Amino acid sequence: MFVSENLGVNEKGHLTVGGTDTVDLAAQYGTPLYVMDEELIRKNLRSFHNSMNKYYNGMGEVHFASKAFSCLEMCRIVADEGDGLDAVSIGELYTAVKAGFPMEKVGFHGNNKTDEELRYALETGVGHIIVDNIPELHRLETIAKDMGKKPHIMFRIKPGIDAHTHKAVMTGQIDSKFGFALETGEAFEAVKEAVACENVELYGVHCHIGSQIFDIEPFEAAAKTMLGFIAKIKNELNYEIKGLNLGGGFGIKYLEKDDPQPFEVFLERVSGVVRSECEKLGIAQPRMYIEPGRSIVGSAGITLYTVGARKEIPNIRTYVSIDGGMPDNPRYILYQSEYEAVVANKADQPRDEKVTIAGRCCESGDLIGENMPLQHAESGDTLAVLATGAYNFSMAMTYNRLQRPAVVFVNKGESRIAVKRESLDDIIRNDV
Ligand SMILES: *Cc1c(COP(=O)(O)O)cnc(C)c1O
Repeated sequence: MFVSENLGVNEKGHLTVGGTDTVDLAAQYGTPLYVMDEELIRKNLRSFHNSMNKYYNGMGEVHFASKAFSCLEMCRIVADEGDGLDAVSIGELYTAVKAGFPMEKVGFHGNNKTDEELRYALETGVGHIIVDNIPELHRLETIAKDMGKKPHIMFRIKPGIDAHTHKAVMTGQIDSKFGFALETGEAFEAVKEAVACENVELYGVHCHIGSQIFDIEPFEAAAKTMLGFIAKIKNELNYEIKGLNLGGGFGIKYLEKDDPQPFEVFLERVSGVVRSECEKLGIAQPRMYIEPGRSIVGSAGITLYTVGARKEIPNIRTYVSIDGGMPDNPRYILYQSEYEAVVANKADQPRDEKVTIAGRCCESGDLIGENMPLQHAESGDTLAVLATGAYNFSMAMTYNRLQRPAVVFVNKGESRIAVKRESLDDIIRNDV
């Protein structure tokens, strides 16, 4: 009935998430409100790491991509499940440290890391630093030497896979700000340099081919390309690459028509390709890493709003205005991303109107979506936007000096605050 498996309708006709009445949540915590279902987050993590165990002999790790959704409570849940983290900034690292996260299970990314960030990563003992470019390699070497450390690094590689077509087409993805290109020989030259470095140890290679990808073929093609590169390094430099990180990017269901593959199928197929390629190429099976973000938290989250004004413009459209919008969900204005919405207190009624859901910022483009099927929404109703668990809270901003919403976790009918709603004093906290 709804895009996410954890949503339902109770006897009052109210939308439920993880067994909790969303109308009650809105009344208890206020709106706008992010609601995350802990049980589904844990289920998603388990389905990735159990499949890794089953299809790749446990020779792998699942690193949740923090950028999709990061807060102390999320780090604690990931740690509790025994999984790792991928972090892209000192802020994400700091959140993990403060949550007591085992930092040896953290990979540190970024296409332009600062010296401060590199030093912090070494100080806190992150497991791998994913190096993006040669100047960074040299800066890291200097900092590591200075601190008397020898960090494990991976290289971010552009494998030249076009993830957005149905067939895995080997096109030039050279035009990306991330990583080293394979085709030009740039990546191989970088490997040669790293192998000669005294203060870093080249442990692995990494690629991330995109996001919200439904096909498995591009991942299989990327794995093959990366293993070919590992074999070349072994044959020409007599150097063994021990880790293969295939990034994240697995698609989720935002709309009824979206049809993502189960994570198990993804891992079964990709693991199969890795094992058979290794045999063919005569190389040892690397330790495999994946970095799912959206697919762990996306479907586990919804956002609750209160409906305010309703404007019917004859023969044009109907606007339904809510007490949030682009500051808590900038994905429509950034990418015209589509979502499903439900009037939470009328969830048992058909969605027989088509409306534009508008935010409250002074921007005409501040919309959650256009042409969205919805129940008849009136002032005072609770509106739920579905599958907002990824890249909503983490992208939230304070435009128009709006306070960022609270985050509540639900679990089997219980709820608790994970991030408090910003206060007016938070808004002026750093003003002098
Ligand atoms: C964004 C990102 C991810 C996570 O992507 P999802 O689409 O959320 O799974 C993983 N790894 C890297 C390097 C990324 O940049």
